[in-house]
Amino acid sequence: MEWCMSMPKVELHAHLNGSIRDSTLLELAKGLGDKGLIDFSQVEHVVLKNDRSLSEVFKLFDVIHILTTDHATVTRITKEVIEDFASENVVYVELRTTPKKNEAKGMSKRSYIEAVLEGLRAISSVDVCFIPHSEELKNHSNPISISAINDKCNENTRKKIFVRLLLSIDRRETTEAAMETVMLALEMRHFGVVGIDLSGNPAVGEWVTYLPALKFARGQGLYVTLHCGEVPNSREIHDMLDFLPERIGHACFFEEEHWKKLKSTKIPVELCLTSNIRTLSVPSIDAHHFVDLYKAKHPVVLCTDDSGVFSTSLSNEYKIAASSFGLGRKEMFELSKSAVEFIFADNTVKEDLRNIFSLAAKNLE
Ligand code: 5GP
Repeated sequence: MEWCMSMPKVELHAHLNGSIRDSTLLELAKGLGDKGLIDFSQVEHVVLKNDRSLSEVFKLFDVIHILTTDHATVTRITKEVIEDFASENVVYVELRTTPKKNEAKGMSKRSYIEAVLEGLRAISSVDVCFIPHSEELKNHSNPISISAINDKCNENTRKKIFVRLLLSIDRRETTEAAMETVMLALEMRHFGVVGIDLSGNPAVGEWVTYLPALKFARGQGLYVTLHCGEVPNSREIHDMLDFLPERIGHACFFEEEHWKKLKSTKIPVELCLTSNIRTLSVPSIDAHHFVDLYKAKHPVVLCTDDSGVFSTSLSNEYKIAASSFGLGRKEMFELSKSAVEFIFADNTVKEDLRNIFSLAAKNLE
């Protein structure tokens, strides 16, 4: 299914630290091992392990964060992750990441995001468009400084990828910490931050803790997407749907009343097939809720979640959906194209993406 690779795709649910190449993680672990800061053989085993329960995945993230939370590494992994998506013809990515403090490295939440932006600027193999076009107009007095990285960066034939950022609130955080992340997102809007994600171990924390920050974000015009229904928690799923987020991720442990509510509200769902199977959040691919939602014409988008941790790619997710659910090339193309309507970037970007898909559709005929 070469066409899964070559057709344009839109990635709306990708965590930065979950999308790191294995080779990079091992190199970083080796570096710290050589300095005697970690036991490399232990970390190597954890990184290369393939099947993990959801709780084991969160233990792995704690290890990954030890390896990656310094400015140079955050810049490096951002660059590599976007290059990897571009190499498989992803034309738009909303990359999400949790801004982190690391006092030992002089890192604040703000400098963490600045390091992410550095990573976007460092990419040269493809045009990366992450500054909203409207910002370029505002900064007309200094057009050179950003002209290479704004939404209009590609008037020529070079490959281009649009990138927008979502700042994640980790469920371990307090209301104040969540609010700090939202304030940072507001400050960073002109660098392409478009929204807030709520993620982290679903066995931890309470919805009411994050609600004030999420309400504030919404009031300020930021988009919100929530990890919803990753574990059976009927009350929380109900409350999350009541909030009417612009999108949700996963929806694995929904009950009848939740499905009804979801379908009536038409909230788009980010579906991560490999992630759900690997973490045993759904019993098998045949039992995946993709089938029901797709048949009901409910808005869905296929995503990777953590392409590094789950050894997948967006093309692979399309391939799995096509072969598991008996969908043809045309149906998969339409599915990919429909994701454009659920992105958080503005209409100018949507229009550009619609054109990219129209052009690609001609090649399909
Ligand atoms: P980061 O935000 O550090 O760039 O990406 C890794 C983080 O994303 C994890 O520590 C976790 O908070 C969140 N994350 C990654 N994958 C998942 C997932 O499948 N479910 C949830 N709830 N959170 C996730």
